[in-house]
Amino acid sequence: MVRAGAKNGIHADLALRLYTARLLGGNGALVRHGGGNTSLKAPACDTAGRIIDALYIKASGQDLAALDLAGMPALDLAQLRALQPRKRLDDSSMVGALRAARLDADAPDPSVETLLHAFLPFKFIDHTHADAVLALTNQPDGAGLCRQVFGPEVIIQPYAMSGFKLAKQAARLASDNPEAHALVVLKHGLFSFGDTARQAYGRMLRLVSAAERHLGRVPRRSGRARPKARASMAAAKLAPLLRGAVAEVTDNGDTCRMIAEFRGAKPIRDFVDSRRLARLAGKGPATPDHVIWTKPKPLILPFIGPAAAAKVHQAVTAYAKDYRAYVARHRRRLGGISAPLDPYPRVVLATGLGLFGLGPTAREAAIAADLFETNIKIITDAARIGVYAPASEADLFAIEYWPPEQAKRAAQGPAPPLAGQVALVTGGGSGIGAATAELFAAQGAAVAVLDLDAAAARRVAGAIAGLGLGCDVTEPGAVAEAFDQICLAFGGVDIVVSNAGAAWQGEIGTVAAAVLRKSFELNFFAHQSVAQNAVRVMRAQGTGGCLLFNASKQAVNPGADFGPYGLPKAATLFLTRQYALDHGKDGIRTGAVNADRIRSGLLTGKMINQRSKARGLSQTEYMEGNLLGREVTAGDVAQAFLDLALARATTGAVISVDGGNIAAALR
Ligand SMILES: [Zn+2]
Repeated sequence: MVRAGAKNGIHADLALRLYTARLLGGNGALVRHGGGNTSLKAPACDTAGRIIDALYIKASGQDLAALDLAGMPALDLAQLRALQPRKRLDDSSMVGALRAARLDADAPDPSVETLLHAFLPFKFIDHTHADAVLALTNQPDGAGLCRQVFGPEVIIQPYAMSGFKLAKQAARLASDNPEAHALVVLKHGLFSFGDTARQAYGRMLRLVSAAERHLGRVPRRSGRARPKARASMAAAKLAPLLRGAVAEVTDNGDTCRMIAEFRGAKPIRDFVDSRRLARLAGKGPATPDHVIWTKPKPLILPFIGPAAAAKVHQAVTAYAKDYRAYVARHRRRLGGISAPLDPYPRVVLATGLGLFGLGPTAREAAIAADLFETNIKIITDAARIGVYAPASEADLFAIEYWPPEQAKRAAQGPAPPLAGQVALVTGGGSGIGAATAELFAAQGAAVAVLDLDAAAARRVAGAIAGLGLGCDVTEPGAVAEAFDQICLAFGGVDIVVSNAGAAWQGEIGTVAAAVLRKSFELNFFAHQSVAQNAVRVMRAQGTGGCLLFNASKQAVNPGADFGPYGLPKAATLFLTRQYALDHGKDGIRTGAVNADRIRSGLLTGKMINQRSKARGLSQTEYMEGNLLGREVTAGDVAQAFLDLALARATTGAVISVDGGNIAAALR
């Protein structure tokens, strides 16, 4: 990496800086999801072409594991240090000053811990939120423990919010302790210093190992779990109830939903089933910036028995009331905030089952789950060696409602139209299904891709951060199982694009019954089985939904010898209307797309060649043989599915996507 960097004109120190930053980022026991940061003091060229002393610092929110030069803006070090004599500097002015010190005005915002890095005199500084250090410092006497474990080489700073004041205090402590080569900020994390990248990195690892050794000396209690909680309902059944309870109808009548990801590994189960759960889980996260993703407290769902939906709603309502009271308590003290965040939990601990991470996107739900899993480890270790005592509620509020963070949120544009929604596409491994999955993901949905070909499903899903599952939709058991998997991964289902299909041919007067039945299994009964499962999940959510079917032109305009394909498709077209009629009362809308002549697994290059030849046309003439004279693509069909998904006052509608064919028009 260093040699490659030199070739690209990157200074060796900078290449080494990026290298050890990535090593730190690659270790989940040191940092997770944008946590931690690293810096380097080295010469750089300013806009006037002069060589000046610069601070290269990780940009705010960047992941250390994938840090590159673009994520490491260079700042004018003298300009930053000129701030040090000031008595105070509020956070918004600090962010402004950091932006103004960038040597490249287009570079991303530097870390909020920039001034601490700037005011300390060391060339390389590494900062992590290592699990073992957090278990040690989230204690009533964290300072005493740190002195005992780390010795005099580490400066101990009581918890203070990152910013100008902490940076000044740290610089003062460092000048009073010139021998020190690390700084621990209690209940937050560890900074290590070095003249070289290797030295700072080595010190970080050595100190974290010392903390780990200390934890290892206190024996693990054999967790006296409460008697096996009665897991009355599987997590897959609980998830849609939970998702429904945290959904909110906005002023314009849309529903604002969240994604919920379930985790049930053994350490999580041990924690949620422990007698100490309520005492430990509600104290707050082990390092305050987790609060952005996890909120100050998880929602604890105790035993869920009969009347589960009502109980989940009650629990969420109580949580929301509690959260609003927390905001009211602290906003007064801080003199007001611009806009309170939604009052719903980001982590739900379900006794007997495990945890759910929640968020407006699947990524944010996964981050909440990841960070709470990390917290479980730290909290358990901290409680084992003493008493878990994290930063106070007021400290958490100060981070959650930090003014620059609020400004960042306010600057975000509107969410994409399908944000928070879960879409399921069957036959999504190729053709129309793949195009639809990609379009829905681009519009913000969390997408589950089902296909008979599991590898194809995973390939399409992998490119859109979705869930890919192999599933034979003609097997009712496999369909129910797939819905359970989707509920565990995303919490439920809001939009179904029932697209899987295949064409069978045969003259209707002579075709074998088996052919017709086989086609009915896939082209009708599978749609019914998918739709029934969707209704079950959508009713549990109580937030409506949308069922869309690929009906095909054959449903209204039969082709000769295509009876085995057209008949079940006609029944599926009718299914669209029956679901509209029977489930409008559940807020479930339906729609169908009649597509024709799309290049896909059903209409291969070979078939196009044969058919165009049979009609005496070129392949292009054949594909463009419609009123508009243009080839219809899988993307055109995907767009029609999206239009139906977004048309909130439309149900039972059928759209033709065939470039214009009056013989196939609905009448
Ligand atoms: Zn930090």
